[in-house]
Amino acid sequence: MNADSQVVLPADPRAGYCAHEQEIRRAIDRVLAAGNYILGAEVAAFEEEFAAYLGAGHCVGVASGTDALRLALTASGVLPGDGVITVAHTAVATVAAIEAAGAAPILVDVDPATQTLEPDRLEDALAEFGETAIQVKAVLPVHLYGRPADLPAILDVTARRGLVVIEDCAQSHGARIAGGCTGTFGTASGFSFYPTKNLPALGDGGGVVTDNEALAERVRSLREYGWKQRYVSEISGTNSRLDEMQAAILRVRLKWLDGENERRREIAACYSDRLRNLPLVLPSIPDNGSHVYHQYVVQSERRDDLRAFLNARGIKTLIHYPVPVHLQPAYRGKVCVHRGGLGHTERLASRILSLPMHPFLTEIQVERVVEEIATFFT
Ligand SMILES: *Cc1c(COP(=O)(O)O)cnc(C)c1O
Repeated sequence: MNADSQVVLPADPRAGYCAHEQEIRRAIDRVLAAGNYILGAEVAAFEEEFAAYLGAGHCVGVASGTDALRLALTASGVLPGDGVITVAHTAVATVAAIEAAGAAPILVDVDPATQTLEPDRLEDALAEFGETAIQVKAVLPVHLYGRPADLPAILDVTARRGLVVIEDCAQSHGARIAGGCTGTFGTASGFSFYPTKNLPALGDGGGVVTDNEALAERVRSLREYGWKQRYVSEISGTNSRLDEMQAAILRVRLKWLDGENERRREIAACYSDRLRNLPLVLPSIPDNGSHVYHQYVVQSERRDDLRAFLNARGIKTLIHYPVPVHLQPAYRGKVCVHRGGLGHTERLASRILSLPMHPFLTEIQVERVVEEIATFFT
């Protein structure tokens, strides 16, 4: 069977497993034989290797990306009732993590060019909420689609006020800005290792990254019932652990991360080259950093028609995300929204389309995607 004549998937975690099958099976066998299945040598080794890869002091493995953000907030001193500023143009998980920490999400619009937190609006939101009962304690920028947010400008705003910054790096493993990896600029950062992310496990997983040793220790304690010493809870904690099997798999995948990100960039370059004369808005590349294309997202006024056309031809696309957080049934009217409104976010939601993007797309599949899009517009 010729796979290229078949469906082109938006993401393909199985292809990633198959590409590294021998190595992954050896890693799993090692865990099975070692007999320690939770928080053992593999987790410790992965934490060290991932922190070293990023150029950060510490990584603490937890159960998911959502937990990584939640525990990073709590370990940074964000208390129930505190305000946390983030964007509505993100995975709901970003906002769910803020709520899980007991804090109040405050949603600010994105810069339409970068589709990430807009520093001037952040500044205005801080002024607006500075006059309310909500005490804004933290800012949570999201490196959406693998494109770094404008961290230098954001940190310029937050540093003047001594705010906590938690980076949402669930889509930006290995992306760089201003000379460093995303995840190494804030007070702490949260990574997800969900099977479709750039650094994928074969199940759930997450990591908190920080240079602050005391903060890392607090996350280590929080992830296991607030223990410092086994069976003695010093603080109120939870159960949020990365298991040995996932850590062993992640150690394999970490070795391939740069190469796979490079392949994503090649595919993105091909898309951008072949689509540039069509009536589409294409992703922009940061001039002081690198994009790791967790998603390659185009904008079109005819998004829904284009999507149906591609779908009928076996090219499966997704929308990240079709409903901004403040318009979701669970959050509508219940979250704080910056007085500037979320116009860019709402406009993007109606125009964005994520083309197939993963490192195992073939040349022929990429070619099919661009040809079908060109056909749609002729
Ligand atoms: C995937 C994702 C998360 C949550 O990660 P999980 O591991 O699924 O909990 C958070 N934020 C963003 C932007 C994500 O894409």
